[in-house]
Amino acid sequence: MPLYSHIKEDFSLHSFNTFHIDAVARYFTEVDNIETLKELISSGQLDDKPLLIVGGGSNLLFTGNFKGIVVHLINKGIEIISRSDDSVIVKASAGENWHEFVTYCVKQGFGGIENLSLIPGNVGSCPIQNIGAYGVEVKDTILSVDAVDLHTGELLNFSNKECRFGYRDSIFKRDLKGKFAVCSVTFQLKLNPVVQLEYGAITQELSEMGIENPTIADVSKAVCSIRHSKLPDPKMLGNAGSFFKNPTVDEKFAEKLAETFPKLVSYPLGKEKVKLAAGWLIEQCGWKGFRDGDAGVHEKQSLVLVNYGNATGSNILTLAHRIQNSVYERFGVKLEMEVNVI
Ligand SMILES: Cc1cc2nc3c(=O)[nH]c(=O)nc-3n(C[C@H](O)[C@H](O)[C@H](O)COP(=O)(O)OP(=O)(O)OC[C@H]3O[C@@H](n4cnc5c(N)ncnc54)[C@H](O)[C@@H]3O)c2cc1C
Repeated sequence: MPLYSHIKEDFSLHSFNTFHIDAVARYFTEVDNIETLKELISSGQLDDKPLLIVGGGSNLLFTGNFKGIVVHLINKGIEIISRSDDSVIVKASAGENWHEFVTYCVKQGFGGIENLSLIPGNVGSCPIQNIGAYGVEVKDTILSVDAVDLHTGELLNFSNKECRFGYRDSIFKRDLKGKFAVCSVTFQLKLNPVVQLEYGAITQELSEMGIENPTIADVSKAVCSIRHSKLPDPKMLGNAGSFFKNPTVDEKFAEKLAETFPKLVSYPLGKEKVKLAAGWLIEQCGWKGFRDGDAGVHEKQSLVLVNYGNATGSNILTLAHRIQNSVYERFGVKLEMEVNVI
């Protein structure tokens, strides 16, 4: 079957992943509307090849060239579906930049996602790992997700419940991994928002800004400021944010661990479960600021692995495995990767 003219061959993915790994996709195409995506599926152009949907490439690690087809989803559009006295329902297309969408909502006075300001990537990816930061997870604002079945081309609507959201998790990372392309996400946001300040760093930043009664715009500004000071900018230093999830363990296990390591950083989750700070565990194993060639651990943030220039995905993955092994040997805790290794 002849290739569609808009499908490119042997295409560099360097600027399509924030680790800036020099991987090449055998085939690559950009899709700016759902009809084209459906046509691609029904034409058979996607058959018999591995398929990867890519948004901003900020949660991916390519460990080699991609032998199949990469589909870069860039469909745009934000639509207000309805308003009530206290809430608004907004639908955003997958190709919208996440932070620009947050900024739009904050400007309109739509509250709920301001704590998620400046997270890289696109709207279509936000439900995949249920993005979260500063005490907020996006699942609490998502009403439903529209996604195209990559096998049949059918457009389906997944309710919040059907998405089976968890901590950095959803059905799209598990049972339906690689089977659907998220085309749009519908959010329910607050019109009289109550700011969410449970996370200490935000209150501290706001007080340094001299703000006593913060609006959602103030919270967004504070979050941006904290993120600028704490996290490396992928434009300057290749990275994909937190490389590992914070592990969840039994309360009893954490108590026992704390006898040996009294400074253990943990957060109660209820149901006799506790979340441990993966960054603390990694730091205690001496990895903070470690560098092997161009693969390294960020000097301020042990959870973030970085590419100083010419690291390959395998270099980064080898480092990740070394970190996992040393944390397991010292604490008996298994670190799970948050980043999607391709
Ligand atoms: C500096 C930095 C800071 C970060 N901070 C945070 C943070 O605070 N909290 C947080 O949760 N994450 C954080 N991340 C991770 C990342 O920003 C999020 O996971 C984001 O949602 C990824 O979006 P993306 O468009 O770049 O996804 P991509 O990296 O392009 O894709 C990620 C995964 O989703 C799949 N995918 C992408 N789009 C679609 C679609 N439309 N349909 C189906 N599957 C799709 C891909 O196949 C891949 O498996 C950070 C990353 C960086 C670089």
